[in-house]
Amino acid sequence: IDKAEAEQIKADYNIPSISTGDLLRDVVKGTGEKADAIREILNSGALVPDEIALELLKDRISQADCENGYILDGFPRNVSQAEAYDKILEEMKRDAGLVIVLDIDKEIAKSRISGRFTCPSCKRIYNINTGDMTPKKSGLCDDCNVELIQRSDDNPETYDERYNTYLEKTEPLISYYDKKGIVYHVDSSTSPSATHAQVVKILGE
Ligand code: AMP
Repeated sequence: IDKAEAEQIKADYNIPSISTGDLLRDVVKGTGEKADAIREILNSGALVPDEIALELLKDRISQADCENGYILDGFPRNVSQAEAYDKILEEMKRDAGLVIVLDIDKEIAKSRISGRFTCPSCKRIYNINTGDMTPKKSGLCDDCNVELIQRSDDNPETYDERYNTYLEKTEPLISYYDKKGIVYHVDSSTSPSATHAQVVKILGE
């Protein structure tokens, strides 16, 4: 699932949304060798080593607010993370839930990524390439009036590498979870509300 949709589900179902990307972006706000090395990987569009993603994920899902479920955004990213996550779930006596695949054309995703801006205060997502998601005042959050920020990897060049990483490492997860019979596809090529309506239907069923 992606960030915008995860935020919608979080609001509707009152369960936390966990993004390994956000957890990593928090790490790189710090200083030191580890933060520098991770920052470089994030800016390149490659994946960070599995141990790092898994440690952050395991710590987060062990917190009390995750007891009744959670939404994962951006995890797992490859088959070895999925296998490790299966073991973690077994230890925690939890089941894998559902996997929702947001189907989207490469070029539409590129345009959305290149136009995405976030409010650093409330985390609301805007998009200057999508009519109904542009901020009312250019560059400022409608709610907080603070300056919007753009992720350093949300540019066309890093996007191409992120897309290649997706094809090579992440897409094989669809068949990994298909074999478990828990994959649902959603057409995410139109509006956020149309995407969300399909997700709500799946979760309702
Ligand atoms: P995202 O916010 O999900 O788009 O992730 C941004 C970047 O963080 C990715 O391009 C990777 O470099 C890194 N990242 C996020 N989640 C993972 C993960 N589960 N495993 C490895 N790297 C990750």
